[in-house]
Amino acid sequence: MAKQVQLYIGGEFVDSASTDMIPVTNPATQEVIAQVPCATKDEVHAAIANAKAVFEEWKETPVSERARVMMRYQALLKEHHDEIAEILAGETGKTFDDAKGDVWRGIEVVEHAANIPSLLMGETVENVARGIDTYSYTQPLGVCAGITPFNFPAMIPLWMFPLSIACGNTFILKPSEQDPLTPTRLVELFEQAGAPKGVLQVIHGGKEQVDMLLDHPDIRALSFVGSVPVGQYIYRRGTENMKRVQAFAGAKNHCVIMPDANKQQVINNLVGASVGAAGQRCMAISCAVFVGKAKEWIPELAEALAKVRPGVWNDKDAGFGPLISPQAKERVLQMIQQGKDEGAEVLVDGSECTVEGYPDGNWVGPTFFNQVTTDMEIYKQEIFGPVLCGMQVDSLEEAIALVNANPYGNGTSIFTASGAAGRKYQHEIEVGQVGINVPIPVPLPFFSFTGWKNSFFGDLHAYGKQAVRFYSETKTITARWPETDLVSGPNMTIELK
Ligand code: NAD
Repeated sequence: MAKQVQLYIGGEFVDSASTDMIPVTNPATQEVIAQVPCATKDEVHAAIANAKAVFEEWKETPVSERARVMMRYQALLKEHHDEIAEILAGETGKTFDDAKGDVWRGIEVVEHAANIPSLLMGETVENVARGIDTYSYTQPLGVCAGITPFNFPAMIPLWMFPLSIACGNTFILKPSEQDPLTPTRLVELFEQAGAPKGVLQVIHGGKEQVDMLLDHPDIRALSFVGSVPVGQYIYRRGTENMKRVQAFAGAKNHCVIMPDANKQQVINNLVGASVGAAGQRCMAISCAVFVGKAKEWIPELAEALAKVRPGVWNDKDAGFGPLISPQAKERVLQMIQQGKDEGAEVLVDGSECTVEGYPDGNWVGPTFFNQVTTDMEIYKQEIFGPVLCGMQVDSLEEAIALVNANPYGNGTSIFTASGAAGRKYQHEIEVGQVGINVPIPVPLPFFSFTGWKNSFFGDLHAYGKQAVRFYSETKTITARWPETDLVSGPNMTIELK
């Protein structure tokens, strides 16, 4: 019997009383590597009650002490980088290098959280009226919660709890039930870094457990990352319950290729950005839009894509790993079939992919459709597999109109040698994260992760200054300290006098 993943409540790792278990499997073999419990209502409520009680003490902990926890944590994460990446590769199937990248992008956010004193600084203006000063403080909210997806089990939890806790909040994490072992290791190291008991709690499960968080009056703010329908549901239900909610959702990211771009750079970057991580990235490039003569590079791109082969996590020649589950594989295969039925031209077909020695893995090979049109389902839906859709237009204006008509707005990129084309694209495109000769423009944590349109529901984004505002309240103080006891008559107006 595979081991049961534990909950983390009140600073203790505990077995759940639940009998409702979800198996965690190795996507290359289907071996069950753990059982994740769906926490009971009592357990979820105990975690929230404990987080609420601990908040009273944690919010009074000096900010420099909170920062020091993050400094020790980032050092520990670096020390255990390879070990965490191996756990991550085991449950996601990612190649070792890609798994290390997942952990690294999370470590960067912890480094940023270690800078919390400067991030919390408020504003001051002296003499807003005669003898009166106004200044603002950033104060924590209370208990916050985070619900994370399967595709970045290190990076996305680390987008959330370190900054929220550094701000002075306590935090409840509900990781993806498909890969809970990586977040468990992250939490063990957080405890080792000296985080006081109870500032972070972990509950496991699915919709039922998320609903308990959404409905509990003591959760003040909720961060979600996952698919569009779930994101919309969580945003609606959470805000209806008067919570602050940020919900990062699915995507369809376009790369526009101008004929003056560097051909080899385009091909190399498109291969990695489209089928890397088996296309299971919210910032993967899933549509390549060739402008004018750039379409002449399509055969060479197809050749390069066809050469990439999937494999197991420690196969150094593998370009990417399996899909997360047999269900995910089935869905991607259905989408590939649909593309064929809709009349898209198949230049590379990965639907019959096998990997020697791993007959049960969720393998799908690189797939490249050409002549894709906007009415096809393979264009309209997020496929979340190693599938690239090729499209052709005659001008940059046409490319911009095509991208802007798409309901998603997570990321996009343009490849060009022209500053004017790059400037026009960055200015006119209605997408929140833009790369110019950069294929996957995920901002570093001193900026924020700024998806738009159907890729994000809410207003304040992940990490950076926006996350600090999301996880805190601003208090503005207007103060007068007269040198003598000046008592004047009542001021009947709203003016400061
Ligand atoms: P998912 O929506 O299926 O699950 C995400 C989380 O929500 C999990 O913790 C899951 O347990 C929970 N959940 C699932 N169904 C629920 C329901 N009905 N009610 C309440 N909670 C529910 O997403 P996934 O398959 O784990 O992740 C892939 C998706 O995440 C893709 O669409 C991808 O684009 C998106 N994603 C977006 C970003 C971003 O920053 N925009 C980043 C990573 C992934």
